[in-house]
Amino acid sequence: MKLHEYQAKEIFAAYGIPIQKGTVIDRPEKIDEVALTYPVVLKAQVLVGGRGKAGGIKLAATPAEAREKAAQILGMSIKGEVVRRLLVAEAAEIGAEYYLAFTVDRAARRLVVVGSAAGGIDIEDVARTTPEKIVKVHIDPFTGFYPFHAREIGRKLGFEGRHLLQFAAIAHSLSRICTEMDAELAEINPLAIVKSGTDGILLAVDAKLIIDDNAIYRHDGLPRNEELTELEVAARSQDLSYVELDGDVAIIGNGAGLVMSTLDMISHFGGRPANFLDVGGGATTENMTHAMNIVLRKKGVRSLFINIFGGITRCDDIARAIAAQPPSVPMVVRLTGTNEEEGRAILKQAAIHAHVDPEAAAQEVVRLTGKA
Ligand code: GDP
Ligand code: MN
Repeated sequence: MKLHEYQAKEIFAAYGIPIQKGTVIDRPEKIDEVALTYPVVLKAQVLVGGRGKAGGIKLAATPAEAREKAAQILGMSIKGEVVRRLLVAEAAEIGAEYYLAFTVDRAARRLVVVGSAAGGIDIEDVARTTPEKIVKVHIDPFTGFYPFHAREIGRKLGFEGRHLLQFAAIAHSLSRICTEMDAELAEINPLAIVKSGTDGILLAVDAKLIIDDNAIYRHDGLPRNEELTELEVAARSQDLSYVELDGDVAIIGNGAGLVMSTLDMISHFGGRPANFLDVGGGATTENMTHAMNIVLRKKGVRSLFINIFGGITRCDDIARAIAAQPPSVPMVVRLTGTNEEEGRAILKQAAIHAHVDPEAAAQEVVRLTGKA
């Protein structure tokens, strides 16, 4: 689950990482209520990167200019995401831009710290064309991240004296955020040296935090997951695994592997899956009823394919849900396994045929979708 910059910064600040003073607005007029020192920076709050290059980050010297620029950014679309909120913050006078992130290196099976003295909006180019400018240090999961790791990375990035100590403190906080929040990624880009008196200080000008979806239950008080569609939220509340796709054949199966292969079969025969719904092992009639309601609510659905291989799940429980509320769109059912005969009998009474062969069933639903 991705957090917005302003949400991530709240967490960063709670861990002592310095950030700019700022507030979130949703209408340009709200600028007038904001008590900040000018110039300010206006930042689109969307869950995609590269906002600067897309025109979603703008500086403003006066309230009038801020209102005008806020009106330009609010409502604009960045990589398909409409901007609904702006972070307005006191602009930093940036001297140098660094990169610092903690992330999971799956191949190495441990966290990796990634740092660079060439941070900023072109970090991907830096990684591609001059990888020697990127410092990577793996963290032993048994011993953890120590201040000497932080100082070692800081020195490699060219920090000295007070800046090195500030860097080490920020790196240590970021490592704690990563482990304590179960983050897949905790990133500061740019980590900037900004003017402050004669000496500069380090500031997290941007913040990115992605929490592992499997660990969300361990954290109270996280913001709502804004990446989920309305139907994905509805499915989660019923403990159903559901993913929205962009085709027109609604798909229900039991077991993630079976549903994945069902999507492949539909694509293979020329159809386009509208969604992925796994009712799970041991699904009851009630689970199946919810599942059908959810997949069919998706806009643009023209058919329904139900592919059940009864194991712990009993075919008669599934059949009861199907027979009780046959959909208005063409439906193809494939049903085999535990209590298959009972299931077929229930469907037969509702004049619904159940296939045995999944490929024949997939072909049939693709054919019916073409006609629907
Ligand atoms: P991103 O493009 O989505 O990664 O958004 P960032 O928050 O990283 O901002 C992009 C770029 O805008 C930064 O690398 C800075 O160069 C610039 N920027 C952001 N905030 C400020 C600020 O407060 N002052 C100045 N001078 N530049 C800023
Ligand atoms: Mn950034």
